[in-house]
Amino acid sequence: MPQKSPQTAHYIELGGYQYWPVLVPRGIRLYTYEQIPAFLRENPYITDGYRAYLPSRLCVKSIFILSNETGNIWSHLLGFLLFFCLGVYNMASVLPAVGASREDYVIYGIGLFCFQVCMLCSVGYHMFCCHRSEKTSRRWMALDYAGVSIGVLGCYVPGVFYTFYCNDYWRQVYLVTVLAMILAVFFAQIHPQYLSTAWKRLRSLTFGLVAGYGLVPTVHWICITGGFSSELVQAFVPRVLGMYLIAALALVFYVSKVPERYFPGQLNYLGSSHQVWHLLLVLLFYWWHQSSSFLMAYRHSQPCPAPQHT
Ligand SMILES: [Zn+2]
Repeated sequence: MPQKSPQTAHYIELGGYQYWPVLVPRGIRLYTYEQIPAFLRENPYITDGYRAYLPSRLCVKSIFILSNETGNIWSHLLGFLLFFCLGVYNMASVLPAVGASREDYVIYGIGLFCFQVCMLCSVGYHMFCCHRSEKTSRRWMALDYAGVSIGVLGCYVPGVFYTFYCNDYWRQVYLVTVLAMILAVFFAQIHPQYLSTAWKRLRSLTFGLVAGYGLVPTVHWICITGGFSSELVQAFVPRVLGMYLIAALALVFYVSKVPERYFPGQLNYLGSSHQVWHLLLVLLFYWWHQSSSFLMAYRHSQPCPAPQHT
């Protein structure tokens, strides 16, 4: 009987599975691409190692087994720990050392908190996507998308705050527009229609707009900071370009499904495009955190030039 009803499959899932006797505890089995429900079929080049039809309790337990989501779950769980520890370390030693103000603590806190939320939403999705209820799985997917927009907010807030440190007016204009834009995207992402194929183009468009908008304050900042002859611009622009380069690379992997496209079935557990996307996302947030820290330290060592106060 090749066609399984979810009922039968759920029954089988509670039985023993012999392929990975050590790594797969009793109660969870893995499925091939053909065996999983339609809503989990997103990447035909990942041919095996799927968890499916699980109740919540087993979804949580499944993070300790080797499945094709293990890399995705742990990369962002460790990413969460990285930004949590970075937050504690910054608050305890980096910020006091540069004579940070209360505002600096708030901005640092917001940035790192957003990165942690993004990581946890992703962990949640990759943990619960194999839930037996499609609705639950979809909800977590929507939350994963929303988490990415929160992560982007975590990049914008310290970036805008420290680049426009000496210009209150534009700092507020950009912070408010960024916040409004991210909130709009966030609420669109949790809309039930958001994940439908009809909204596919709108999804890419909004993501492109949110990411690309960052170029507006960047170009503006270069102009008011004295153009490319300014030392600060020369030091900071490569960091901005580096961030966009990592983001572009991450998106290329995410969309193209390279390298598993060329090695179908061979990268089921390790080395798939989604794992690369996850690692690049952690690298991007870390890179941007270090870049904002550089700007903050600069602002505390160099007073704002007088003409920009007006
Ligand atoms: Zn993911």
